[in-house]
Amino acid sequence: MERTTIGSFPRAEKPLEEAVAEVIDLQLRHGIEVITDGEQRADMITYFEQVPGLARGGRGLRVSEKIRPMDDPGSFYKIVDYALVRPQLGGRVKGKITITGPVTLGMTAAMGGITGYSNVRDPSLYEDCADALIPLAEKALDLGAHLQIDEPGLSAKFESPKYTERLFSALPDKAIDEGRVSLHVCGSVGRVFDELMSLSVNVFSFGFSRAQESKNMGLIAEKSLREGKRLGVGFISNTMLETADTAQARLEKIARIIGVKNIAYINPDCGFAPTTPNLVEPILRNMKEASDGFLRSL
Ligand SMILES: [Zn+2]
Repeated sequence: MERTTIGSFPRAEKPLEEAVAEVIDLQLRHGIEVITDGEQRADMITYFEQVPGLARGGRGLRVSEKIRPMDDPGSFYKIVDYALVRPQLGGRVKGKITITGPVTLGMTAAMGGITGYSNVRDPSLYEDCADALIPLAEKALDLGAHLQIDEPGLSAKFESPKYTERLFSALPDKAIDEGRVSLHVCGSVGRVFDELMSLSVNVFSFGFSRAQESKNMGLIAEKSLREGKRLGVGFISNTMLETADTAQARLEKIARIIGVKNIAYINPDCGFAPTTPNLVEPILRNMKEASDGFLRSL
């Protein structure tokens, strides 16, 4: 199992390169083995303003016309910023690129305004989102990065996971088989668990620490993971400072339920974008201490 973060960090008011370098440094200092750029440019929706058909709206994005793939996926911010992450990896750690999934992106952008589609329930809106995300995801994998698809909209039941599947099924089998691709769904996943297990992705990133994720523990005890599926385990809160002991006990409990071999990644429940900035480092420190304690106990 490898330590990772869900991706976002509080945005620093400083030049981008400096901000990314600091976030990388922070992750390396605390034993993170799959690191991210920290999403220092924008929020998880606004990052996609470069996609034709998505434009800046009153708040965040709106759908301004039919959504199409970018002409040059290499110019997508997250791909460009990965060039800042890559030199820091040095063989010891891996890099991860996070991409918002079609259900979450399509619905959230459409709430800001919608042109070119009949309404927010128009299936072609989500199909077009998935098709626009495919080349970005492929590009991330081509660069050798891990790929995390963020779909909080699935636990919120925005739309069917079939649109997320449209994206996964287009990705190379090898990357899926290697566990290099994961699906992050925060919140309580009980209502979508069975559907998620049928998706063409093998690693699911679920949270188990915060109030909104507390039911997930009972869920994995009651339902088993489908053969070949593993978890990225959110075992420490991303917003509250929990003790290392609390987090370690939670991780041990999850390991007893699903088996250590089915834990692919360990991480905080969700991203640090909403976290009080001065809590991020103590959370990472406690996460390291808890996971070291857990690994020693095996
Ligand atoms: Zn999340």
